[in-house]
Amino acid sequence: MNLDSSETREMTRVPFTDLGAMAGEVWPEIEQDYLACLLDGAYIGGPAVTAFERGWAAYCGADHSVGVGNGTDALLLSLTALGVGPGDEVVVPANTFIATAAAVVRAGATPRFADVSDDTLLMTADTLAAAITPRTRAVIIVHLYGQLPDMAGLAAIAQQTGIAVIEDAAQAHGAEWGGRRAGSFGAVACFSFYPAKNLGAFGDAGAVTTSRPELADEIRSLANHGRSHGHSHYGHDRIGTNSRLDALQAILLSGKLAHLEEWTERRIALASRYREQLGGREFTGTGLKLTATAPLARHVYHLFVVRVPRRDSVRAALTRREIQTGVHYPVPCHRQPPLRRLAVCPLPVAERAAGEVLSLPMFPHMTDRQVDYVCESLAEALRTAAVGSEAAGAQ
Ligand SMILES: *Cc1c(COP(=O)(O)O)cnc(C)c1O
Repeated sequence: MNLDSSETREMTRVPFTDLGAMAGEVWPEIEQDYLACLLDGAYIGGPAVTAFERGWAAYCGADHSVGVGNGTDALLLSLTALGVGPGDEVVVPANTFIATAAAVVRAGATPRFADVSDDTLLMTADTLAAAITPRTRAVIIVHLYGQLPDMAGLAAIAQQTGIAVIEDAAQAHGAEWGGRRAGSFGAVACFSFYPAKNLGAFGDAGAVTTSRPELADEIRSLANHGRSHGHSHYGHDRIGTNSRLDALQAILLSGKLAHLEEWTERRIALASRYREQLGGREFTGTGLKLTATAPLARHVYHLFVVRVPRRDSVRAALTRREIQTGVHYPVPCHRQPPLRRLAVCPLPVAERAAGEVLSLPMFPHMTDRQVDYVCESLAEALRTAAVGSEAAGAQ
């Protein structure tokens, strides 16, 4: 089978990502295992899942990893296993994907939104402290865009107030803070292997990592109809759900895991090329703002997010130059209709950022020339947008 990406997929000058290129690179290495599993017929759980779980726990520096159906379930199962429920509050950053806050609501608890740092767009120790009340049971720290926030500061607040730390590491496979990996900090850490994440399945998949064996057992049981290890197939110790990792997904994920470091290093190299050019003279006075990287962080650049004035017209100009971009996220969580009533304090940084953030193309198979073309086009787009708004102001 010919998997040459340039022949099989439609070409845009710079796509936002290129999942087919990653799949094509890995396929020859997993083809046999994949076919063997397909013919064997054991599609849920089994040795391929166990092998991936071991590999994933080791990669993250955690003792246990439990494969689940997706990242959203990873969050809900973790909250449930920690005993978070009605009457409890859980602090979440206002700048995150809706799943972080939605999982809290699904668990029967109440999300409390914390604002984010204007430099990194991540939660800080101060914004966490400000959102804690006597009802707070846990905080979900989100390593948004691929970067961990100040984990020492956040952990100190959590410890002082006795709340549990859950990591939402859905965008942070392999990210580090002070040399320690995402997935090894919290009581539990939640990963998504949604196709577009840095480590992506070919459908939905997720995992929870933890170094507490009782939490790993509880989550494994909750994700498998409340079954417990060693009990019969129809013995159910608790009311659970069905959120398991499929064997074929696990085979692909193990295959991709072997490439993850190399792909991550490539993302980091592309990001420094972006940073070098976007820090250049063409951008002075354009209002372009880069997202800061903390010195202790290994940012794995799930997304390369900048802030620009007149974002939507800049974005349209890039589209005209055949550059696909994204916006993460155009509406902050606490402005979404079902969550609006829960925003009890002002969240000015998250609100402002939602109107300015722009995610530039970022994927391991992106070329240096594509980065250069994006930067050149962005400079042009910022100039045109500025001229456009001056003309509009003069009318
Ligand atoms: C993708 C994502 C999730 C949800 O993961 P799914 O696998 O899509 O359910 C949760 N939180 C963040 C920050 C994410 O980016």
